[in-house]
Amino acid sequence: MNIDSIKNGYVIDHIRAGRGMQIYEALHLNDLDCQVAIITNAKSQKMGKKDIIKIDREIPIDIDALGFIDHNITVNIVKDDKIIEKRKLMLPEKVVNIAKCNNPRCITSIEKDLDQIFILTDRENEVYRCKYCEMSLKQHNE
Ligand code: ZN
Repeated sequence: MNIDSIKNGYVIDHIRAGRGMQIYEALHLNDLDCQVAIITNAKSQKMGKKDIIKIDREIPIDIDALGFIDHNITVNIVKDDKIIEKRKLMLPEKVVNIAKCNNPRCITSIEKDLDQIFILTDRENEVYRCKYCEMSLKQHNE
């Protein structure tokens, strides 16, 4: 398969090496029947090594999930073989059902139907706290 031939879709670039599969799963790319390529350990001047994901379809991408996992990722939007937009990511203010609260006494551990909601409480240190019990999420970028 020719991985350069993305006609309409996305090139998700600057993924930290080794994170490609995590992103693949977070975006539920295994549910797609279009062409998806994961390139691992690509050479990068800026990063040494990086992963890249190419998706040959215009699907809705969960930008918040991506920003939460790693806000240094770049999302390139491809239309008619050309990159028409490079989207920078930011840490989202709030994430829903991307991470789980680890507090066994948290209401989300008991009420399984509740959404897992985390709020960004400290942007500088990338701290998210559970909306219900306020327990902080362990450094998610490790
Ligand atoms: Zn909690």
